[in-house]
Parts: sequence; C-alpha cells; structure tokens
Amino acid sequence: MSSEILIVNAQVWDGASERRFAGHVRVVANRIVQVARGERPPAGNARVIDAAGMTLMPGLVEGHCHLSFVNVATNAELGEIAPEEHTLRTAHNARVLLDHGFTSAFSAASAKPRLDVAVRDAINAGLIPGPRLRAAGPEITVSGGLGDERRLHLYRESFGLIGDGPVAIRQICRTLVREGVDTLKINISGDEFVANARAETTPLDDDELAEVVKVARRFGKMTAAHARSSASVMMAVKHGIDCIYHCDFADEAALDALESVRDRVFVGPAFGLVYNTVHRGEAVGMPRAVAEAMHLPRKFEACVATYQALRKRGLRVVVGGDYGFTVTPFGTNAQDIELFVRFFGYAPHEALHCATGVGAQLMGLGDELGAVREGFLADLLLVRGDVLADVALLQDTGRLAMIMKDGALHKLQPQTMT
Ligand SMILES: [Zn+2]
Repeated sequence: MSSEILIVNAQVWDGASERRFAGHVRVVANRIVQVARGERPPAGNARVIDAAGMTLMPGLVEGHCHLSFVNVATNAELGEIAPEEHTLRTAHNARVLLDHGFTSAFSAASAKPRLDVAVRDAINAGLIPGPRLRAAGPEITVSGGLGDERRLHLYRESFGLIGDGPVAIRQICRTLVREGVDTLKINISGDEFVANARAETTPLDDDELAEVVKVARRFGKMTAAHARSSASVMMAVKHGIDCIYHCDFADEAALDALESVRDRVFVGPAFGLVYNTVHRGEAVGMPRAVAEAMHLPRKFEACVATYQALRKRGLRVVVGGDYGFTVTPFGTNAQDIELFVRFFGYAPHEALHCATGVGAQLMGLGDELGAVREGFLADLLLVRGDVLADVALLQDTGRLAMIMKDGALHKLQPQTMT
C-alpha cells in the first residue's frame, strides 16, 4: 500500500526558523513532497490529518544516546545483566525513545558490543519499533579508566572494553568493526565516577587514540569521544575525532581548538546527567554531600560556562544528556532542550535546531533529515501547543498527537483523523 498523507491546518516549524507558519504538508511513502503555505491543497487520494493549529515539526534527534543503559544506579550494574535480557531491555528503550518523539538516535556507546547493532538491525527490518539508530560499540577504555570496574581480587564486567597500548586498542576497534558498529567511542579523559581517574585526568595515550581514528577511517566509521579534561579535548581535535562529548573543563586553548574545527566536529554536553545529579540527586538517593564530594556542582558550573562559550563560538552542539541512569530515566530525554535554553543561552528555536537539524547532520543525513522541507525524509511530530513559546511542551508525551518516522505513523491520536 503506497501511502499518501496530507497534514492540514498545521503551524509548521521548519527546523530552523524563529517562527512557525500556517501550512499543509504532504507525505508520499517516506518523503515530504509538498510544503504548502496559505490555501489548503486538494487531498486527492491522500489520507487527511487535521492538525487543527498544532505545531508540525521535525522528529527529534537524540545526539548522545545510550539505548542499553537501562536506568541503572551505577556503571557496574550494566555488566551484571546477561546479554539476552539486556537485548530485550535495549529494544524496550528504543520504543520508549520513539514514543517520546525521538525519531533518530546517535549512540554514544552501547553497554555490550552487539546491543546497539542487534537493535538497529531489528528496527531497520521492521521487527521492533525504534528510532533511526547509529549504533556504537562499548566505550573503549584503558586499565583504570572510565568503564573499568575490575579490582585486583575480582573480575567484573562493566560497560567498557579495556585495552592498553595501540595493539590492544586496535584489536578492540577491528573487532567492533567486524561486529557491525557505526561508531567507535573512545574514553580519552577520566570521569567523576572513577575514583582514581577523575574528570580532569587524561588516561589515554596519543598512540592509543591514533589507532581508533585509523581503524575508523579505514572502514568508514565515525568516532566519538568522552573528553572532559582540557588535554582530552585537545587530543580529540588533534586526532580528528568527529563528535567530542562533554568538554566541561575545556580551557581557553581547548575552546580555541574546538572553534578552529567547528565546521567538521560536533560537540555535546550530555547535560541532563550533569544537571540531574546536582539538582535532582536527592530524589534518587544521591544526597548533596555525595554530589559535592564528587565535585559535581563544580562540573555543572564548568559545563555551563563551556557551552555558553561554544554557542557564541558557533560550534554545532547536539542534545542528549546521558539518559539511562536512575537519576536520568529513559524517556525524559527531551529535558535537555529546555536546559539548553535555561543554562546555555539558546533561543528556543536554536535549542530546537540543535535537537533536529544539528542532530540530523550528526546522523550523516543533514541534507535529507531534520527539517520540514520538500524532498526530506518524513520524520515528523505534531505537538499540541507552541513549542517555540515553551520547549518544555515536548517533555509531555500527551501533547505528541502524531509521531511519524520514515513516513510511517508510529502514533496518531484519534481526534486528528478526519
Ligand atoms: Zn554518555
């Protein structure tokens, strides 16, 4: 059945502009074929959906996604889950994400090598609902780095793949390529959650990072990096990492380095986790004293300063906030858009553009996704209310009257049918 859908009487937000406009949008198969202003075009054979003044906008793109992070309290918990259960729970998260209006997701690491890959392939085969997915492997790390939870007396899996030296790192990368990932994720800096390698340390060596980029280039894969320290940001820029996450403690030189490559790199604060651990931690058993002992409020301040600066410097910033922990439950991902407005100084349409157009570029689909434009892929949302007046509306799934991915209706509230 070749589908044709005409969405009439919408307030169209095109994915970039400051304002919406009254219009009608026709979708044939999986493409937007007509964006009409003014008078309603004839329906022809199309099924008509009456938007009744709702916002019609591009589907959201989660730019720092961990589909296999299943609302755990600690990183080590991810290692406890058997692959079979973990796959099902990852598939569940894929559905949850699409239910919340995210029609695309760029993975910032999977907790086991094939979780993203298997779920991506199942989504593409039509076996399960979920967003367009760029699959990553686990975070590649070194002994004692983020993702290594072992002790001398205790073997313990976590969410990292651990290697030391270029040979070991190369083998991990080649293995992940063999297993079908789209993106290699490398942990360059430490993290607050690692006792002896905090966020401002840089455990990875240059020759180890070079291997990741070399393998990725050879096989046409993307690279993403966990980089909180200034030194790690500098290394990521120097080696040509495609997506540099966090950058919280970037100093002036690191900010300059990022700006020098702003046309080829993406950055992402993964701010939801930073914000929630400081401001909502009490509710999930992370008392303020614990947050302070881990220097989380300091990181929060650093992250805010960094992204105010990166916004002004014209970097391409993606939303996505490390959702998938107890403190950042899956499905609350759209909170990041509101945080971009509240803390980084983005106008609502700019923050929404980070969550649509910029995300689409990160997906490698910038010329056919992330905008309501003729010829573009039909990933569309109908939202009750004016999202430019209040971006937080997107956090309420009750307001998502329609979710369309690739021309297919994932959700349509009955009152919109005519
Ligand atoms: Zn992450």
